[in-house]
Amino acid sequence: MDEKIQLQRLERILEISRELTSTVSLEPLLHKIVQVAAKLTGGEEASILLLNRAGDLRFQAASGDPAGQLRDIPVPVDDSIAGAVLLSGESAIISDTLSEPRHYKVVGQRIGLETYSLLAVPLQIKDRRIGVLEVINKQGGGQFSQEDVETLTTLAAQAAVAIENARLVGDLRRAYEQLGELDKLKSDFIAIASHELRTPLSLILLYAAMIREQIGDAEGQQLDAVLRAAMRLRHIIETMLNLRYLETGQMELVLERFDLRAEVRDACEEYEAIAGSSGLVLAADLPGKEVNILADREKVRVVLDNLISNAVKFTPSGGQVQISLACQSDSVEIAVADTGIGIPLEELNYIFDRFYQVEDHMTRRHGGMGLGLSIVKGVVELHGGRVSVESVPDRGSRFMVLLPLSVSGEQAAMSAVGQQAVS
Ligand code: ADP
Repeated sequence: MDEKIQLQRLERILEISRELTSTVSLEPLLHKIVQVAAKLTGGEEASILLLNRAGDLRFQAASGDPAGQLRDIPVPVDDSIAGAVLLSGESAIISDTLSEPRHYKVVGQRIGLETYSLLAVPLQIKDRRIGVLEVINKQGGGQFSQEDVETLTTLAAQAAVAIENARLVGDLRRAYEQLGELDKLKSDFIAIASHELRTPLSLILLYAAMIREQIGDAEGQQLDAVLRAAMRLRHIIETMLNLRYLETGQMELVLERFDLRAEVRDACEEYEAIAGSSGLVLAADLPGKEVNILADREKVRVVLDNLISNAVKFTPSGGQVQISLACQSDSVEIAVADTGIGIPLEELNYIFDRFYQVEDHMTRRHGGMGLGLSIVKGVVELHGGRVSVESVPDRGSRFMVLLPLSVSGEQAAMSAVGQQAVS
């Protein structure tokens, strides 16, 4: 072959290679491949046929058929040249198609195009043959050559890669959609279950508290245990609901101005008894003057509760938990530091993910659902703040929350919705 022509062939093939790596849309690429195939081999038309589930070959792309009319015509595998190439895996050059008994004439008759000569090569992905690339009617009435076979084989390999890529992308997309559906199912389940649990639990808490007031201290201890367990359950349900509101973007901020020190003191008070019974010292280091903040008080409390309960939970007896507030010009930093078991460096990036827990489920010594920190992060970010953590295994951890002193722009708009929702 003339060197110039050979170079031109190589350039076209390279061009397709480049497109192959940069595009995932199959149709235009296959269309280009058939056009280049016809051009480089000097054929009148070229086409790609793929084996379908029913066991027929079907046109996937054809140079003379951009509207895809050929697609509806099945080509039988056991009664066509394309089928023979598919079954044998060998390319075929037919110089006189009209006298070839295997030639399937139906297609030509349907579209009014007679086939005189034909070259077909198999399309193969690894050891699986998936279809055929063919060109028909060598221009000038000549025969397809061995070089044409090589060119077509190279193009067939490219088409096969494109088809495989598209299939993989399709599989991935379907898997992704399924995952989305499962996630929604889980989310709906959490919402329904939490709502349904909330009502009977409120009744249990209400009546248990009433009975507790009526009976003496001796019997009261057992009822206290019931009350504590019911409150733990309520905390779990609130956590699940908070998670869902965050996930679905339905969490609304109800802003009010309050002294953050008071909220920290209340939270510490709540955990003092647990800390004391676990042999821990729980202390707060608060500024002398008010720390006025415009934020959602209840949700800030959720943040404090989660961080303090984690610090208490993950610190062995004899340790310390310290909560401090440090004011900056337009923000305040809440730090919850402990002298507990700490978190390995490689885990620090994951602990804010939902359901993530450093300890293995089978060998866990501490309770919890792995949701607290993801809620902390979500709530803080909704306020326009940031959460960070420093930790040294066996030495302790320090969680830091930076909150703006007043929520701005977007969050304020959201809070207006929140106010309406409660008014
Ligand atoms: P939970 O405490 O319910 O397991 P969280 O989302 O609050 O879930 O925390 C996720 C994980 O991060 C915990 O399971 C624990 O492994 C780790 N962790 C959180 N806080 C601390 C802490 N103060 N000290 C050590 N590890 C912690």
